[in-house]
Amino acid sequence: MRYLIIADVHANLEALETVLTAAEGSWDRALVLGDLVGYGASPNEVIDAICALKPAAIIRGNHDKAACGLEDGSNFNHVARAAATWTSEILTPDNRAYLRELPSGPAAIDDRVEICHGAPFDEDHYIFDADDAVRGLSAASRPVCLFAHTHLPVVFHYENEMFDGYVPDVTDRHPVEVQTDSRYLINVGSVGQPRDGDPRAAYGIYDSDQPTVFLYRVAYPVDGAQRRILAAGLPASLANRLAVGR
Ligand code: ZN
Repeated sequence: MRYLIIADVHANLEALETVLTAAEGSWDRALVLGDLVGYGASPNEVIDAICALKPAAIIRGNHDKAACGLEDGSNFNHVARAAATWTSEILTPDNRAYLRELPSGPAAIDDRVEICHGAPFDEDHYIFDADDAVRGLSAASRPVCLFAHTHLPVVFHYENEMFDGYVPDVTDRHPVEVQTDSRYLINVGSVGQPRDGDPRAAYGIYDSDQPTVFLYRVAYPVDGAQRRILAAGLPASLANRLAVGR
């Protein structure tokens, strides 16, 4: 089985459509790791497109909770809060209900893989450093835990009591072969708001037969997403950051 891995789309329809076109024919089921909305200007279109994928598993992110009123966004900075307020006002009743029903992570996919938004021990926790990664690796219920939330592609790995972490060099595709007796925490990066200095959309494919997790990057029409953000009256910084991937 080949799973498409989509995370942190953040209402960026141009990025999502480009990823779906690039990945067409190379996956069987979709995994969605949360933050469908927030920041970007196409929340309804993105929710509709993700629903149409009929994901094998989908979990919520912190921006999904804020947009549908499950959280008040008081821990957001003012730009994120402005975007959450705008999103909550433009969501259709059906899409608001869809976000409210999204389960929290982690969610097990098969015997080898689980997904979460932030961390396997807390859906809202950011895994940035080795301490958090080691905690996440021991909390995970499966040897491979796919996570999101930071918008930064990274591979943490634990084998023979040795821990390492690296930023994958994804020119266009980077394979992570899953070894037996090893544990992994893998972030494939963000579809709709990359923050590693590479503005290209990031996504992944988990091929359970190999077994390998592939990380991908693909350029998308950033200017289209930017125009929509500005036309919606969202903060200009949300458009500007897409051009630099920060
Ligand atoms: Zn996010």
